[in-house]
Amino acid sequence: MAKASKSNFVCANCGNVTTKWSGRCEACGEWNSIQEEAPLGTGPASKTIGAARGRRVTLSDLAAEEAPPPRTSSGIAEFDRVLGGGLVPASAILVGGDPGIGKSTLLLQAAAAFAAEGLKVVYISGEEASAQIRMRAQRLGLGAAPVMLGAETNLRDILTTLEAEKPDLAIIDSVQTMWADHVESAPGSVSQVRAAAHELTAFAKRRNTAVILVGHVTKEGQIAGPRVVEHMVDTVLYFEGERGHQFRILRAVKNRFGPADEIGVFEMTGGGLSEVPNPSALFLSERGQPAPGSVVFAGIEGTRPVLCEFQALVAPTPLAQPRRTTVGWDGGRLAMILAVLEARCGIPFAGLDVYLNVAGGMKISEPAADLAVAAALLSAREDAGLPPETVVFGEISLSGALRPVSQTENRLKEAQKLGFSAAIAPEGGKAVDPSGLKLNRMSDLAAFVGDVFGAG
Ligand SMILES: [Zn+2]
Repeated sequence: MAKASKSNFVCANCGNVTTKWSGRCEACGEWNSIQEEAPLGTGPASKTIGAARGRRVTLSDLAAEEAPPPRTSSGIAEFDRVLGGGLVPASAILVGGDPGIGKSTLLLQAAAAFAAEGLKVVYISGEEASAQIRMRAQRLGLGAAPVMLGAETNLRDILTTLEAEKPDLAIIDSVQTMWADHVESAPGSVSQVRAAAHELTAFAKRRNTAVILVGHVTKEGQIAGPRVVEHMVDTVLYFEGERGHQFRILRAVKNRFGPADEIGVFEMTGGGLSEVPNPSALFLSERGQPAPGSVVFAGIEGTRPVLCEFQALVAPTPLAQPRRTTVGWDGGRLAMILAVLEARCGIPFAGLDVYLNVAGGMKISEPAADLAVAAALLSAREDAGLPPETVVFGEISLSGALRPVSQTENRLKEAQKLGFSAAIAPEGGKAVDPSGLKLNRMSDLAAFVGDVFGAG
């Protein structure tokens, strides 16, 4: 007798699977995000496939010539860049982001752009009526674009429509509103979202249609987040930005057809999202006199250099447990840098609140920003600005040594292009042409502190 298979429990935030329910996900720490998921079909009765014969699979060698995938450019260069150079047929793309950040606006503009390039584009919305989408399109000046609209949430009806229309690109807004009638759970649950993503991805491969799925990042565990379908699609893009800022960043976190970590930068304007071809200039636009606590980091995002500004504030605190607040940078990495400053340079931050912010709503994850973070913290603590017109980059190891980072030359070139005259970077690595910059290379953090802040 086969035992009745037990159901699993899935985290709606991160997709972690457990065998028992709990109030908090052990994988991502989210509360009330665990949902029961019905077991999948139990499959054939025999326990193993054994020696039973299947079909033989055709094998080929590695040397076979493979043409690069044909791509269609939208003409929106920042969007094409993040896709790895344009839209690949039969690819499944997930575009995630907070509700209201502008995903629908971005994709409507992309839909119109691809339609203008001659692709047959279908836009299915489960969120809004066609009339609302039409109004938005008119507001964006896209009223005449040959995009076909549909308002539907029934997955079976949508697939029937797509099979009949055979579009080159189908945009599904959003995957959380889709409802598959063969799955017994509420729309938005992990099972429904996975079923919809699976069916639509399979459709993409079967009919050579590129499919873009919109996924809302949700804070409540009732609705499954886009992370539970990340592994099913070819490309995962996240649309980020702070609501108070007008710029938005489209970031590739996974891409089978191009480099991950590539970013596209857009600005939200009255007429929709417009491209920002030179993001460094935008992120540094508020820069005036070098203020204490403010440091310009020469970073690399994907394949291009981007300059951005770290801002730190250090203030005495009455709290026994001082505050450590970061926006746009990892909190654990901040703790490490504070520990290295204390242990290797003798500069304590105990009794001091520390706030660290990346200006303009950028998120930085490169370890190469360590030195810029340390510089911002020291500059804030000592109330002394860095030398003007200086960019900083370098990774800090636990020993306090500075490690060389990749693409030093590109970072320096970008800095020079934007009018910087000096750079502080780690020693070692490849010799580079400082291209007109005054390049100051240092071996460790203590040397940096002594050189720049005259202590040590
Ligand atoms: Zn989780």
